[in-house]
Amino acid sequence: MLGPMRAVHWFRNDLRLSDNTALSAAARADALIPLFVLDDALLAAHASPPRRRFLLDCLASLASNLAHRGSRLIVRRGAPAAVIERLLHETRADRLTFNRDYSPYARRRDAQVEARAARAGARVETYKDRVVFEHDELRTQAGTPFSVYTPYRNAWLARAGDALRARRAPTLPPLPAGVASEPLPTLTELGCADDARSSLAGGEAAALRRLATFLDGPLRAYARDRDRPGVDGTSRLSPYLRFGAISPRRCIADALARAAAEPGAAVGARKWVDELIWREFYLALLAAHPRLLGEAFKRDFQRVAWNDDADGFAAWCAGRTGFPIVDAAMRQLVATGWMHNRARMIVASFLTKDLLLDWRAGERFFMRHLIDGEPASNNGGWQWAASTGTDAQPYFRIFNPVLQGEKFDPDGTYVRGWVAELAAVPDRFLHKPWQAPTPPRDYPAPIVDHAERRITAVARYEAARRQAAVA
Ligand code: FAD
Repeated sequence: MLGPMRAVHWFRNDLRLSDNTALSAAARADALIPLFVLDDALLAAHASPPRRRFLLDCLASLASNLAHRGSRLIVRRGAPAAVIERLLHETRADRLTFNRDYSPYARRRDAQVEARAARAGARVETYKDRVVFEHDELRTQAGTPFSVYTPYRNAWLARAGDALRARRAPTLPPLPAGVASEPLPTLTELGCADDARSSLAGGEAAALRRLATFLDGPLRAYARDRDRPGVDGTSRLSPYLRFGAISPRRCIADALARAAAEPGAAVGARKWVDELIWREFYLALLAAHPRLLGEAFKRDFQRVAWNDDADGFAAWCAGRTGFPIVDAAMRQLVATGWMHNRARMIVASFLTKDLLLDWRAGERFFMRHLIDGEPASNNGGWQWAASTGTDAQPYFRIFNPVLQGEKFDPDGTYVRGWVAELAAVPDRFLHKPWQAPTPPRDYPAPIVDHAERRITAVARYEAARRQAAVA
C-alpha cells in the first residue's frame, strides 16, 4: 500500500484513464502529476501524418478527460530520462509510476529512466498493463518460452479468468500548484496537412464507441467476414490498442461477456479473442527473442538471396505494381495509416515472394505508415509472410495475387474503392486487368510474371536452406 506521497504517472502507450493499472496505483497518492513526454525519438517513430494525427487526438482526449476530473496533463519536451529527473526534483515527487513496455528500444529507455528517477530519490513502480500475461508468465512444460501459437493460446486461455477484470477510471488526486506544461503541438506544427480520408479519430471515448459498435454488429459474422477487405468486418481497434486508448482486458472481457449472453455471438467472439491472443503471442515472442527485430526466427532462412530492385520497391510503396489487390492495399495504407489484415498478408507475400525483396524493407515501410505499427506484431506478421518466422506460412505455399483478389474481394469493392483507374474494368477482369479487352491505359501492366517468380522464390528459399545446413 502506498503511503502519503506525491506521484508522477508517466503516460506512454497507455493513453487512457480507465483500466490503467499504473495510473490506478498512482491515484492512491496525495498528489498526482500526469505526465506525457514529447521527445524527438517519439516524433521520429510517428513520422507519417496519420500516425501523428492519431497520437495528437489521443493526447487531446487524455488532456480533456484529465481536465474533467480536476487534473491536467503536463506535457514536457525532451529526452524522457532527463525530463523526468528534472520534474521529480522540481515537484518534490517521491514516486514514479508507469506501465511496462516490451520492445528492445522501450526496455533500454525505461532502464535509463529508472536509474535517473532513483538518482532523484523517487521510488519507481512499474506495472503489467499492456498485456494480460507477460512473456515469462506463460511457459511450456519444459519451462521455455512458447514458440508455437496454439499451445500458447491454450495455456493463455486456461489461466486468463480473473486476469481479465477491467478497472474503472480512478478518482484522481489533485495536481500540485504551479507545475508548468508546454502546450500540445498542433497538427500543422508537426507538419501534417488535414486529410479527410484518414479521419480515424483517436482517444479513449472513440475507442470505447468503436468497441461497442463492433460488439453490437460485425462480431457475429467476424469468423467469416474478417478475411474480406471490402467489408467492414473487423474492429479496427488496432491503433487504439497500440496507443493504449483502450485496454486489451476490456476488449477481451467484453467480447467474452457478449459470447456468454448471446449464443449467436460466441463463434465470432472466440475467433476475435484468438486474434487478441496473437497480439500477446507476438509481444511475448519478441520479449523472449529480441534478435527477431533484425533477423529471421528460422535460422534456415537467415540468408535468402534477396533482389536489389529499387524500382520494384518504389512501385510496391506507391501502389503501382499492376496487381490490383496489392495496389489497393498499399494505397489504403499510405492514405489512412491502416490496412486490412488479409491485405497485409497479400502485400507482404508479394514483396517477398514476387519481388524477392528482403522482408525487412517492408517491415520498415509498414512501421512508418501504420498507425498501429507495433514492432512485435509487425515483425511477427512480416516473418509469417516471408516464411522465416514461427508458425510461418511454408515457403513453397505462395499467394497468387490474382486468386487472392478473386477469392477475398470477389465483388471488387475493395479494389474499386482504392484504384480509381480500374473503375471501368468489367468485374471478371478486375483482378487481372491486363487480360481485359481494353486494359486501362493509366494503370500499369504487372511488373512481374507471378508464375516465374514463384519458381524463383522457391529455389531461393531452398538454396538458403541448403547453405544453412552446410554452414
Ligand atoms: P481485428 O480483426 O478486429 O482484431 C482485433 C485485434 O487483435 C487487433 O486490433 C490486433 O490488436 C489483434 N490482432 C489481430 N490480428 C492480429 C495478428 N495477425 N497479429 C497480431 N495481432 C493481431 N498488427 C498490429 O497491431 N500492428 C502491426 O504493426 C501489425 N503489422 C502487421 C504486419 C503484417 C505483415 C501482417 C500480416 C499483420 C500485421 N498486424 C499488425 C496484424 C493485423 O493485421 C492487425 O492487427 C489487424 O489488421 C488490425 O485490424 P483490426 O483492429 O480491425 O483487427
